[in-house]
Amino acid sequence: MTAMFDRIALIGIGLIGSSIARDVKELGLARDVVVSTRSADTLKRAEELALGTAYELSAADAVRDADLVIVSVPVGASEAVARQIAPHLKPGAIVTDVGSTKASVIAQMAPHMPDNVHFIPGHPLAGTEKSGPDAGFTGLFQGRWCIFTPLPGTDAGALATLRAFWGALGSKIDEMDPEHHDKVLAIVSHLPHIIAYNIVGTADDLETVTQSEVIKYSASGFRDFTRLAASDPTMWRDVCLHNKDAILEMLARFSEDLAYLQRAIRWGEGDKLFDLFTRTRAIRRSIIEAGQDVDVPDFGRHSLEKKA
Ligand code: NAP
Repeated sequence: MTAMFDRIALIGIGLIGSSIARDVKELGLARDVVVSTRSADTLKRAEELALGTAYELSAADAVRDADLVIVSVPVGASEAVARQIAPHLKPGAIVTDVGSTKASVIAQMAPHMPDNVHFIPGHPLAGTEKSGPDAGFTGLFQGRWCIFTPLPGTDAGALATLRAFWGALGSKIDEMDPEHHDKVLAIVSHLPHIIAYNIVGTADDLETVTQSEVIKYSASGFRDFTRLAASDPTMWRDVCLHNKDAILEMLARFSEDLAYLQRAIRWGEGDKLFDLFTRTRAIRRSIIEAGQDVDVPDFGRHSLEKKA
């Protein structure tokens, strides 16, 4: 593939940033890739992994002359990064991010973006519970959705270029407004993580069941929650704080539905339980049919990662 950009700057080089770096390198999408991260240790590791062609501790220095800037840091750090890079952006550059919440990232970054750059917020719906530059891998975005939440008046050419970039990484592209994105993600991603953190926390607190029993018998359901609950604490703290309204709305719905389930169990209403469990089984089938998971034990995660 021919290079789409002369220079890409990657600000943040954890799971997501380093997966982008690996794909860009393998596909030859840029002549130069400048990697920047706030800690010397992570920057050194990125260099050892040869994730870029240049390495900068300063985000301001990294974005100079970059045609595409991708910010891949916890969403709560978006404003600080925007402030650092804004005065040094190349006129005409595309600036995007990968943050899991969109309205908050826009509120943090957009006010700092100069008029002569194209700021296009984005969110690849791909990841694992791992973090750091070693956690990334080529093909992470293959067959996964990448959602853009463009601001009104976004340049169509810049948007087409960014779509082509994520398309080259194998992503399927969608666009929606940021508030809608945040609601959708609250139910498909944020709530499941919160439930997982909660259930694993509850199991950890139980006094009648020992730690060793929780671990020994985990295959009976608990194990699938522990994968989500092992996700990065900083990232998920920031997601909760920066998608507060949508998450609280979904949690309220969830609590109501849980109370319905609790009542059905208390009163022995087997038909209600059976109906719900039948409906939810169909959702699982739809996800497999849509190619978003495979129907093998472990929910296919190992085979998906190997394939990537
Ligand atoms: P990660 O592996 O933990 O990497 C985080 C990166 O951001 C590192 O380079 C880290 O730098 C840097 N960073 C951390 N705190 C910072 C701060 N306060 N200021 C500036 N830089 C900071 O994270 P990730 O999983 O790649 O996630 C990055 C973004 O992608 C997040 O916004 C997340 O919401 C989004 N996202 C994640 C997933 C997922 O499944 N993980 C999926 C889609 C989108 P140092 O190591 O040098 O401290």
